[in-house]
Parts: sequence; C-alpha cells; structure tokens
Amino acid sequence: MKVLCIGRNYEKHAKELKNPLPPEPVVFLKPDSALLRNNQPFFIPDFANDFHHEVEIIVKINRLGKNIAPEFAHRYYDEIGLGIDFTARDLQDDLREKGLPWEKCKAFDGSAVISDFVSINRFKDLRNLSFSLKINGDIRQNGNTKDMIFSIDQVISHISKFFTLKIGDIIYTGTPAGVGSVKIGDILEGFIGDERFLNFEIK
Ligand code: ZN
Repeated sequence: MKVLCIGRNYEKHAKELKNPLPPEPVVFLKPDSALLRNNQPFFIPDFANDFHHEVEIIVKINRLGKNIAPEFAHRYYDEIGLGIDFTARDLQDDLREKGLPWEKCKAFDGSAVISDFVSINRFKDLRNLSFSLKINGDIRQNGNTKDMIFSIDQVISHISKFFTLKIGDIIYTGTPAGVGSVKIGDILEGFIGDERFLNFEIK
C-alpha cells in the first residue's frame, strides 16, 4: 500500500507557512514504513530540531481506480480516520530553499500517525466535519472539512490521474492552521467531532 498526502489544502494553514494558495492539489507520498499505529509513542528523531504536528482527516481507498471522475470518487472509499502528518519543519525549510524533494522531512519512519478507521456512515456530512488536536489538554488545531480548498472527492480524482489507487491506500487530506512543534513528554489527542481517535505520547 501507499500513503498519499495533500499539502496546503486549508487556506489559513497555507498562509501561516507563507505559501501561495495552490491552483491544484499539492501531492506527496510516504512509504508504508512511515506508518505509526495503535497510539504508539512518536520518538523524536535526531536528524532535525523542529518536528511539527499536522492533524488531518485520512481516507482509506477500498477499490482499484485510475482516472476517477470527481462525481464517482465517493465510490472509492467508505472509511475515514484521523492522522498526523509529522513534519521536520526546519529540514523542510532547508530542502525547499534548495529546491530538493520533501521525503526526508515528510516521509521518515513514524511520520504518518493513523487511527483506526470507521465507516463514513457514522458522519452526517463529510463536507462539514470538525476535527481537532489537543496537546496536554489544550486545543492547538481546530479544523473543518468545509474549509478544504479541494474536497476529498476532488483530491481522489486528481491523485488518480497520476497514481493508480489500490485497496488499502491511505490519503492524508491536508492540515488546518495551528501547526506547531512537539516536545518530549507531550500527550497528543486527536478528535473527529467529540470522539477521540488518537491518544499518544511524544518520546
Ligand atoms: Zn500535511
């Protein structure tokens, strides 16, 4: 399986990192070795100094698909969850400045935290889904899928022009504003609505 991620999909987040709004989805990949499941702790790596949390709605693909039209994209998933796209921000700034690829800062081991997946039938409207991240009990990120620049269906359609989607592939749909650093000892809790999907420690 593969992990596909969308960058700059919320206007306020794009602006907080001083990025222009993208005319089409910004796409990058993580390998399956990046996955961190079951609320296991995130161990801060030693190759960078500033690791940021990015809480994101994640979608699991359940059908093989290529060149999927936006109006049919909803047929390709029936479960969502919550993830954190950990980013070595200082390393990313360095790579971006040099025009180099992002894998070292975005796709390292443990950089793709995933919750359990649940049926989309549990939610009234996927286009109006609030989600949030607390650190040590304080809300740090608070988003709603209605603020996505590209909807889940538009994202799936766009990605599938370039990459065949396979059963089990996971899509990170972008983070809202409020990204920031984590430090050893922090407890991260992620919510969709009021329901807690993530609860793990930084080590
Ligand atoms: Zn992200």
